[in-house]
Amino acid sequence: MKYFSTLLFIAPLIAQQYDIVLANGRVLDPESGLDAVRSVGINGGRIAAISAAPLRGRSVLDVKGLVVAPGFIDLHVHSHSPEAYAFQARDGVTTALELEIGVWPVARWYAQREGKSLINFGATSGHVPAAMAVMGDQGKLVPLDVAANRAATPDEFRQIREHVRQGLEEGALGVGFGINYLPHCSREEILDLFQVAAEAKAPCFVHVRHGGPVEPGAEDAVQEVIADAAATGAPLHVVHITSVGLRQTPTLLRMIRGACARGLDVTTEAYPYTAGMTDLGSAIFAEGWQAHQGGITYRDLQWAATGERLTAETFAKYRQQGGMVAVHAIPEEVVRLAMADPMVMIASDGILENGKGHPRAAGTYARVLGRYVRDEHLLTLMDALRKMTMMPADRIHQPQKGRIKVGADADITVFDPSRVIDRATFENPAQYSEGIPYVLVGGVFVVKNGEIQTGVAPGRGLRRRENYFGRR
Ligand SMILES: [Zn+2]
Repeated sequence: MKYFSTLLFIAPLIAQQYDIVLANGRVLDPESGLDAVRSVGINGGRIAAISAAPLRGRSVLDVKGLVVAPGFIDLHVHSHSPEAYAFQARDGVTTALELEIGVWPVARWYAQREGKSLINFGATSGHVPAAMAVMGDQGKLVPLDVAANRAATPDEFRQIREHVRQGLEEGALGVGFGINYLPHCSREEILDLFQVAAEAKAPCFVHVRHGGPVEPGAEDAVQEVIADAAATGAPLHVVHITSVGLRQTPTLLRMIRGACARGLDVTTEAYPYTAGMTDLGSAIFAEGWQAHQGGITYRDLQWAATGERLTAETFAKYRQQGGMVAVHAIPEEVVRLAMADPMVMIASDGILENGKGHPRAAGTYARVLGRYVRDEHLLTLMDALRKMTMMPADRIHQPQKGRIKVGADADITVFDPSRVIDRATFENPAQYSEGIPYVLVGGVFVVKNGEIQTGVAPGRGLRRRENYFGRR
């Protein structure tokens, strides 16, 4: 009888067959610390088994010698097109999120992508797009006229706040802020919007009011939002800390670390490049921009459409028409400091349209893994993966992502640690990363044998999981 019952117990295990098995890879999981050769069984879009013994599958892929990691979660992506998603997938990204600027209307943005996307997507309810809609600004991503040039009236601000609140009701992942792009918005308005976020227990993702060393600059700006987080209780995420802080980045990190030590929920991120990118027509390039960017000049600006460096003449011409410009302003040692800091998440701030944009849209993750982990030993592989997977998943309250564990979503990136590297450059950003042969989103291959898979759209919209404003 004993023999019989044991047989009954183990029989289903022997018979178990998985949809997909990734066999014999080096599995890294930043939550448990697992770093060992394992086989991973996937069923119905979830990780169903992680085993030192072989697993049976309808499809078994031998990934010996390759790393099997949680798919990379990019908190900061501005281009949400099939083109951009393909470059991101080849860089190992399984989830692309527009959290800084955010979107409006939120429900429409999600509906436009549901069932049609290669990778997962999501967005915040954005202060900037709400302000542009209410005030009638002609800008695309960021304000270029009305909202850049004057404050909202009290009535307009009431509408903006209602739009932001509505977006949270529709499932947005938080509230997005680009305060630097709305130079006339008051500190009281920002505090009000933090309050809206706090009431929904939603995090605020913020491009702060000022950057650089000239007062009021980066220090003042980060102090504003830490104070607002403290005053309202809203969780705070400061975006692209290096392009805001430049040489003052260590001071900003000290402020954030201190705020966390005192019980506030404050996080930050950076991209692994020495240049930012934004619209030349935006408020960032108002009078005095050179000093605010740490003492750069025209030739430190690179027009994305042509790759040319600017002069006083071309600056004036292109600022009039508006368009993306790379801003070479971040010292390499500041980038290295952020990459090495275990508190700083990796996020691309990717912009790529019709092959033009910033190389970070296509190369951020491979660049960290190839250049800073493998070649320069600046951080360990596990630390880098934690900054790309579990930490961003936790920032948006999605604990089923960013892990290789049983029950987690089967968003998985398989790469060759000896070969992974970025190829995208400022002159030609539309170049795929190398050394990332397999990427799965929800248990579906979107990259296989190093090629984008066509005819699949497993990407799903990520929405806030908690109740909004105490309802539902
Ligand atoms: Zn920004």
